[in-house]
Amino acid sequence: MEISKDHPRYRSLVTRERLSELVREGVVAPTGLIAHGRGEAFDYMLGERTTPAADEAARVAAAHLLEARWPVITVNGNAAGLCAEGLISLARAVPARLEVNLFHRTPERIERVCRYLEGAGATDVLGREQDARLEGIASDRASCSAEGIGRADVVLIPLEDGDRAAALAAAGKTVLAIDLNPLSRTAVAASVAVVDELTRAVPNIMRHVEDLRNRPEERRRLISEFSNDRNLERMRDAMCETLHQKG
Ligand code: ATP
Repeated sequence: MEISKDHPRYRSLVTRERLSELVREGVVAPTGLIAHGRGEAFDYMLGERTTPAADEAARVAAAHLLEARWPVITVNGNAAGLCAEGLISLARAVPARLEVNLFHRTPERIERVCRYLEGAGATDVLGREQDARLEGIASDRASCSAEGIGRADVVLIPLEDGDRAAALAAAGKTVLAIDLNPLSRTAVAASVAVVDELTRAVPNIMRHVEDLRNRPEERRRLISEFSNDRNLERMRDAMCETLHQKG
């Protein structure tokens, strides 16, 4: 479909076309489009911008990634389709392992998403071999890589579902989420929820990684002073403010 660059929602329309194409290629699950739509609605309420509270959360997420012994970034179809290059660059910068971990999981789709990431430049992608399990979660979604999520102390989960976020937290891992819904179970279960659109949040986390790389004391201060509950409250307030302004 031809989309005119003058269209006021050009970027959103191009992204939708791209995601539909990736459904046809088997990288994005059909229900991934519904999840994307939910994200767009919340982004509308944020005014489609990074708020100061979201940027603070992105900075704390960067601090956790740098402090981690074994950081892992999980990637599903939507995250790959929206932000493969950004996630690959972030994984290199930290450095962290990338693991493909899908809600709608079949060996074929895992292979497709792994290949998609490799086509975008990723190496050593985990996820083809699912040789560990997370406790407290339905069996088909419990499996993960022993070298990745299984061993991780800090896990960045862009666009994850609430059950798995809670299971990761219950397993004692520090969960960093990127999720536009400040009410989602994922955002609430996380130690740090970055309530921002994925393609804005990832470059922000990357910028903070570079800035905090040689500042361990600052990293620890950021981590100890952060409250996810308080940050989510600020994000809900930011959404209410945007709604009032538009009304
Ligand atoms: P939860 O289980 O965490 O309460 P959910 O399982 O109902 O939420 P899903 O439909 O699995 O949520 O996942 C979609 C989530 O991802 C939504 O919260 C949505 O706001 C968020 N989301 C979708 N697209 C993006 C995006 N591009 N950037 C950030 N967040 C997004």
